Amino acid sequence: MAYQAVIGLECHIQLSTRTKMFCGCPAEFGATANANVCPVCLGLPGALPFPNQAGVDGALRLGLALGCRIAAASEFARKNYFYPDMPKNYQITQYDRPLCEAGALPVRVGDQDRRFELVRIHIEEDTGKSFHPERHGDRRISRVDFNRAGVPLLELVTRPDFRDSAECAAFLTTLRRLVRWLGISDGDMEKGHLRCDANVSLRPAGTEAYGVKTEIKNLNSIRGVERAIAAEIARQTGRLEAGERIEQATLLYDAEGDRLAVMRSKESAHDYRYFPEPDLPRLEVGADWIAAARAALPELPWTRAERWARDFALPSYDAGVLCEQRELADYFEACAKAGDAKLASNWIMTEVLRVVREREWTVGDWAKRVPPERLRDFLARVAARELPGPLAKQVFGWMADESGTVTELLERHGVRVQSSAGDLLPLVRAVLAEHPGPVAQFRAGKAATLGFLVGQVMKKSAGQAVPQVVQELIRNELSGKDASSSPSA
Ligand SMILES: [Zn+2]
Repeated sequence: MAYQAVIGLECHIQLSTRTKMFCGCPAEFGATANANVCPVCLGLPGALPFPNQAGVDGALRLGLALGCRIAAASEFARKNYFYPDMPKNYQITQYDRPLCEAGALPVRVGDQDRRFELVRIHIEEDTGKSFHPERHGDRRISRVDFNRAGVPLLELVTRPDFRDSAECAAFLTTLRRLVRWLGISDGDMEKGHLRCDANVSLRPAGTEAYGVKTEIKNLNSIRGVERAIAAEIARQTGRLEAGERIEQATLLYDAEGDRLAVMRSKESAHDYRYFPEPDLPRLEVGADWIAAARAALPELPWTRAERWARDFALPSYDAGVLCEQRELADYFEACAKAGDAKLASNWIMTEVLRVVREREWTVGDWAKRVPPERLRDFLARVAARELPGPLAKQVFGWMADESGTVTELLERHGVRVQSSAGDLLPLVRAVLAEHPGPVAQFRAGKAATLGFLVGQVMKKSAGQAVPQVVQELIRNELSGKDASSSPSA
């Protein structure tokens, strides 16, 4: 029997606010253990939480970008549970009245445009971090760091609309790009700033009822998501095909060993006993607040890609690469205006991104050295065929390390581009005289020999001739036309 996988995702996004969600402690990553704590996030008696407006703003930005319904009044709730890494022994979250509901994320999967619908996005606080067990002399001890306890998190829950692990990976990649684009999180999965749980079940293909699901916890890389879900689908398929039942369970994925392990089975499932948080009033978000958040949203990556397709006829592949970061998209746009957008896209996607990668720069580091107007000057010279291919790459390389216009760079490096007929005609004539065979073949209609002749002239010019001009000159010479009529003369 063929089975269909039914997968839903719960994504946790750590907001990059300056302070924690319900107290004034710094929310920074990497501080000395237990340096960023106070009576509120340590859960000391009598301490009262107060909501961080920047955290609510971050949730609103994401909710509005994804077209969610925003609740004018939502509610914080307590999720009761013994957390070794949460000193209050409950987590403040949102339960039956979340801030954002519905909405969808547009995702490109392979060559298809899809939309994955959401159930909700709500605000909560993160837990601390435990390290255990570790061996100290003859004792095994666990340590806990409360710095992360109380850092704002968004939980985004999707509908169970994914059918394979590639769709899940594409969704998460797109979500990571979006949270960075909106400036609400750095989306760094290695630091746990974006994590994901996956609910996986199988059902016979063509049926509607859901099968028994398992939950894979705390996936912290795109590759881990892809591999863990694929492994769980394979495991469940194997069991069903062998006539066995699927047990409801929570699983952990070990990325290093590429293995799934059962963390707890259904018998020990937790009852969190949610109730409204008595220390916080309802969260009221008025129309003014929502309007201001909407007005402050940047143009979204998918909207921008559509506009580029319309205005620049830019292929969707290019738009996908260039919209990977907002900084890159802005840079491209500044370079493309009033020029050849496709040429700008080609140079940025290949050469700029290569240099950025090799030197471990950000796009901002690059743009500081080569602002858009400088790249525009360069691209205009390339478009006007004033820089032959190999020389263009050389000039591009100098731009990253040196200041100055293309003309200044060429002068500084003692390069004189030969683009005029006056410079090139003697070289062309010499090459034609040296190679009577290919010349005769060209005259006899064998067009391919033209490339050979152009190559010989390029070699003679030490790569400083412009091939298009050389080509025109050779054609003119061999068709008996006057070379001085060449348009580049
Ligand atoms: Zn605190």
